[in-house]
Amino acid sequence: MSANLVTAAYIAATILFILSLGGLANPETARRGNTYGIIGMTIAVLATVLGPRVAAAGLPWIIAAMVVGGGIGLYAARTVQMTQMPELVALMHSLVGLAACLVGFASYVDTSIAYTGAEKAIHEIEIYVGILIGAVTFSGSVIAFGKLSGKIGGKPMLLPGRHWINLAGLLVVIWFGREFIAAPSIEAGMTPLIVMTVIALLFGVHMVMAIGGADMPVVVSMLNSYSGWAAAATGFMLSNDLLIVTGALVGSSGAILSYIMCRAMNRNFISVIAGGFGTGGGAPAAKAGEQPAGEVVAVSAAEVAELLRDAKNVIIVPGYGMAVAQAQHTVYEITKYLREKGVNVRFGIHPVAGRMPGHMNVLLAEAKVPYDIVLEMDEINEDFPDTDVAMVIGANDIVNPAAQDDPASPIAGMPVLEVWKAKTPIVMKRSMASGYAGVDNPLFYKENNRMLFGDAKKMLDEVLAALKS
Ligand code: NDP
Repeated sequence: MSANLVTAAYIAATILFILSLGGLANPETARRGNTYGIIGMTIAVLATVLGPRVAAAGLPWIIAAMVVGGGIGLYAARTVQMTQMPELVALMHSLVGLAACLVGFASYVDTSIAYTGAEKAIHEIEIYVGILIGAVTFSGSVIAFGKLSGKIGGKPMLLPGRHWINLAGLLVVIWFGREFIAAPSIEAGMTPLIVMTVIALLFGVHMVMAIGGADMPVVVSMLNSYSGWAAAATGFMLSNDLLIVTGALVGSSGAILSYIMCRAMNRNFISVIAGGFGTGGGAPAAKAGEQPAGEVVAVSAAEVAELLRDAKNVIIVPGYGMAVAQAQHTVYEITKYLREKGVNVRFGIHPVAGRMPGHMNVLLAEAKVPYDIVLEMDEINEDFPDTDVAMVIGANDIVNPAAQDDPASPIAGMPVLEVWKAKTPIVMKRSMASGYAGVDNPLFYKENNRMLFGDAKKMLDEVLAALKS
């Protein structure tokens, strides 16, 4: 394939990636967006592999690597549970970071292109910065994977003087960067490069370990952005325009998403980047077994069916527990049944519900819930006082009134869905356990609140059966 043809293919792929991102902005066009992305990526890979920069002798290696990598990817995509999706995404980000590091070291020791003068300096800066971003992305994403999968506790690990440690790390990285550029030989440059890589890896670990429970969504989208910049840096190192553009698209859209998540959680973007945010001043989460005073009123599935049957306006608030129980299909059946009976049923979606951005939207779309009754938090929050039943399905932190009432709460200031303003809120969950942020929820003890204990899918099946009987 000639260089001109490769350029044309790259432009086509770039356009498809932009169309893909545009499509993914809306559930109705998301499927089409995905298709654009798949076609774009196929064109990009074929043009790169068949292009003039790959020697024919290397092709069997590349094809073998693609078969192995593609096979693992296919297997992972088929077997991963919907609830493990966020962890899978974090793991994918870590691979982008790792790739940037490996490409960085490989292009440093590669002497097939002899750079001189300013070109050499620029190439080395690309390598240094590329490995830096790659290493932070890699180790940060591995820790995020651990936190999201529960292998590492959600509590923030705050070292004393952590900002000073970070600052010292930054200064050392800059100092060694100078040493690296000034190094007379590849051997001499290796030491500063390795020292910087180790510091960057430690920084990634430190940054994500310092983030506490409810603030994780911002970290997930921030690492998504970092992985884009790592890919763009790889593009610079390899002089591959498509990788630069694609990386920049991911990097900037991830940054915009982080900004949106920050706003949704009422956090400051700058302090997010500095790491260890949202934890200062907050009281530690209540210890297990330490319950706030009050009584909870438990109800049966039949009583819930009764309340729903008598309601005119119902708002359903899904959370992580709906994903765990895979209850979305039953939720849809109940919604359909109630709508046929003339009940106005709508969904209120919190921006950080579940464990990844858009988690609930994906599940509800999968269950074929019509998009026009799925509303964002800001669109629906004022309607709770006019609502008869607010049905909270496996959600906890996102409906916690302490975020508004208790300035000492770790989630203080986070906007929440005001379900307690409905005539009867019903919370469905298995126990009195806390949610991801590990904070108690005073909603459960409110006088008008009802609790339906049990697995969300099982209980909703019972509610549906009771409705139909
Ligand atoms: P939470 O984690 O606050 O609460 C989920 C609740 O679901 C739990 O309290 C649990 O209670 C219940 N549950 C679990 N399994 C089941 C089941 N099978 N049936 C019924 N209930 C079940 O989830 P929310 O969606 O309310 O809030 C999301 C949290 O996750 C926020 O703190 C957010 O910051 C954080 N987060 C979000 C990310 C994102 O991008 N969206 C990323 C990372 C973190 P019980 O055990 O009693 O059943």
